[in-house]
Amino acid sequence: MLLDSKCALLEKPKKAKAFDLWIRLSTHERRKPIYLPVGLHEYFKERGGKLTSMVQISEDGTLRLVKEIERKDIVFSGDIALDFGMECLFVSDRGDLFGRGFYLRVKEYADRIDRIQREMQRAGKKPTESKRYVRLQSKLSGYVKSEVRRIINRVIYLYKPQRLVLEDLRGFLQRVINNFPKSVKRVLIRFGLGEIRRKLRDISEEYGIEVVYINPAYSSQACSNCGYVDKDNRRTRSEFECKLCGKRLHADVNASRNLLSRAKWSLHLRRMEQALIKQVELFSRNLFDERHKCLWSKATPVD
Ligand SMILES: [Zn+2]
Repeated sequence: MLLDSKCALLEKPKKAKAFDLWIRLSTHERRKPIYLPVGLHEYFKERGGKLTSMVQISEDGTLRLVKEIERKDIVFSGDIALDFGMECLFVSDRGDLFGRGFYLRVKEYADRIDRIQREMQRAGKKPTESKRYVRLQSKLSGYVKSEVRRIINRVIYLYKPQRLVLEDLRGFLQRVINNFPKSVKRVLIRFGLGEIRRKLRDISEEYGIEVVYINPAYSSQACSNCGYVDKDNRRTRSEFECKLCGKRLHADVNASRNLLSRAKWSLHLRRMEQALIKQVELFSRNLFDERHKCLWSKATPVD
């Protein structure tokens, strides 16, 4: 059921600070409205748009407020690729790092929560009996969700891409999340993954941005400059130096560039296998180049 301002009015409270709005519901008795105090969810506050005077009431008694979200008049063009990093949440193919303090902060929260959990267990109680535990849990989930949304918003605002290229989320789980300590891992699986998925769905609905997921196999070992694949190309977690062409760059920037080229190739070729063949072709062409003479002695003839 949709109620408009004739029978439901939204009013800002004048004094009360414990909630955000009053809903004034008209009743059959004149001048005897019912006032309902309403607290707004963080997500509702952050999501832009104008609050309408409409209130939806569903049969189970749930109240919903309605926001009008304009499709922003922005021109979107080009592709942008993001790689999930371990030091920051995303690294773009243009070399920008997003969410640098994210994992540290999550770890801080997770450690505090773990400590309380252990204390409670020692005392023979359930962790949920501790108010501090419950409060921290909800703070942490709130932090993860709002950071994910803030960071993705920042990416959209900065690049205004038509297409957003990412490694598939299973890759994120196996390659990044699984490398964190247990407590952080749990949080990222419980809140992080879902929120990333939701936010990406929202941006395609809101802005019409196409989100493309790419198989990340070997994207951290392959050189985005010449195509040479070697696990020694990755010197440390963040340094990449190609053993063939000598290209040096941030390892995650290199990986996101690989995702971007794969997205471009697979768009035409449609199939990942063919995109990989393309990469091998590029590499063999480079191999016969005079500049890479030093490698020729490494080659062994095939019978
Ligand atoms: Zn190279």
